[in-house]
Amino acid sequence: MKTKQVWRYYCDHCKKSGGSKAAMAKHESICFYNPARVCTFCESMQIEQKPISELMDIFLAEGLAALRKHAENCPACINAAFCQETREIPYGKAWEYDFDYRAESKSIIDDIRAAEYEGVACGGIY
Ligand SMILES: [Zn+2]
Ligand SMILES: [Zn+2]
Repeated sequence: MKTKQVWRYYCDHCKKSGGSKAAMAKHESICFYNPARVCTFCESMQIEQKPISELMDIFLAEGLAALRKHAENCPACINAAFCQETREIPYGKAWEYDFDYRAESKSIIDDIRAAEYEGVACGGIY
């Protein structure tokens, strides 16, 4: 019988874990719960990424419409603000907020490499 011990890597910001250090480092850099996440959606849409703390403040003070405007309608930035503000998964709250990350991100994800974004979902839905 062979036994083998392997390292498991855990995201510093959410519950995601995995066996690949490189994949987890990549996830952490774009994790919705990472306050310093790099938004590859903004990058691909060639818009300037706004600090998440700023987005959260605007959402709290002025609501979704203002958040959308400030985030230049980037679904990943809107989603990150939701995730970090509520520590909740916004999918189930779409009816409440009129925001559905999956629906709104689909066309952008289709534009870039879809496979790269599998498993990036917020809050433990993988
Ligand atoms: Zn994470
Ligand atoms: Zn963005």
